[in-house]
Amino acid sequence: MSNLQRCYSRPLSPFGAKGPFWDPVIGHRGYDYGGSRGAGIVAYDDMVVEYVGRSTGLGIVMGLRRLTMGGFAGYAHVLEPMPVGSLILRGQGLGRIAGRNDGPGTLWDGAHIHTTLSWVSAFAAAHGNTPLDDPHPWIVRALKEDRESATAGGEGTIITPPKEQDVAPVIYPYQKTGKWQPKVGETLRMQNDSGTGTKNLVPRAGIAIIATHVYLEKLELGDAAELTLKWVNKDTGRESPHYVERIEGTADGIVKSTITFARNVAPEFIVVADIKVIKGAPTITLTGADVVVYPA
Ligand SMILES: [Zn+2]
Repeated sequence: MSNLQRCYSRPLSPFGAKGPFWDPVIGHRGYDYGGSRGAGIVAYDDMVVEYVGRSTGLGIVMGLRRLTMGGFAGYAHVLEPMPVGSLILRGQGLGRIAGRNDGPGTLWDGAHIHTTLSWVSAFAAAHGNTPLDDPHPWIVRALKEDRESATAGGEGTIITPPKEQDVAPVIYPYQKTGKWQPKVGETLRMQNDSGTGTKNLVPRAGIAIIATHVYLEKLELGDAAELTLKWVNKDTGRESPHYVERIEGTADGIVKSTITFARNVAPEFIVVADIKVIKGAPTITLTGADVVVYPA
């Protein structure tokens, strides 16, 4: 049985359930799975810890960015949470299930996992601030795929992104910049292999931590785009799984987006990032776009 199956095999209280412990209007602000004190809470997507805090009713709470699914996963009643900045691959542990006296001030009884889904922020997911969404369908999907990361080394094995002073990152600028007036559905492709002689993206094969940054303007309120990131092997055409993030326009139109993930890579792979407009008719200027590689 995989870590994922072990962790999410006992659904208890569904999202929106009504009962004396829960909000009379909204109901249960998350989905509960049964588990025992000290058992690992397993990430069902590749995730980065963006927030760890404490709540009177929920004990230690966490908010994590879901790297391939988008949005933010929240967890409550957590013991030994992984620190902010940790990258946790699917199938790895992000913390442990707290028992009755582990989370000071919690109102609940009985060890279990309480998890939420927010499309707004890691903070909202952690504290169960509305609007919230039901995480269960996503967990069901992950269980069906039952695809644990090839690099997952079992419960509690975590890869933490190296600090900049530990490892000098290798920075590759994307080649395509400038003004762009896309129609809905049109894609701007950026890749790092043209013109710079840096086809060999990663210094050696193995696990690498990749962060891609895209800065653009103007994507105003009402506009939306999708940023997709993947590896492509130019010779064989082989592609990695896609990482998709939805980018919403802002009041000032300035957008800063980052995707971080870790993968086993071969030196001949290149990084491809696509920006696709899915709403609105913005005039976009890419003010900066790069990919940073930390050999792990
Ligand atoms: Zn709950």
